Amino acid sequence: MRIALVAHDGCKASLLQWCLWNKKTLSRHDLIATGTTGAIIEQETGLSVERLLSGPKGGDQQVGAMIAVQHLDVLFFFWDPESPQPHDPDVKALLRLATLWNIPYACNVATADLIISSPLFGSDDYEPTKPEFCEREVELLDDGTVAIAE
Ligand code: PGA
Repeated sequence: MRIALVAHDGCKASLLQWCLWNKKTLSRHDLIATGTTGAIIEQETGLSVERLLSGPKGGDQQVGAMIAVQHLDVLFFFWDPESPQPHDPDVKALLRLATLWNIPYACNVATADLIISSPLFGSDDYEPTKPEFCEREVELLDDGTVAIAE
């Protein structure tokens, strides 16, 4: 699966601890993260992470775009409920797209624990229902563009 990891500064330690705890499981998947989150996870866990822009510089929107072109399976997004964020509209947009596209996503440790420990996590037996408006297959190409099947 393609898994995105994003944490606001006040939650980075918590996400890192969670990644260390779940390192073995995470190592079997493709990991994508916003810039600083990805750098910390890579450095502290040794896991390989595809790094996007930093969240406030557009990283959240990049994750959202991946969801919209069906290029992401799960999102772990530890947003900070105690600090205002300069990119709050991007945060809201990302959560909206994750809901719209029926992506499993966790915004705190307890939910993340339940998702990653589910027997359905990474299983071929489960495919989330796609939204009704989604009739055409899209493919993200290596050059960053999108191919949409006719
Ligand atoms: P960061 O971005 O990983 O670059 O800190 C996270 C965010 O603020 O969305």
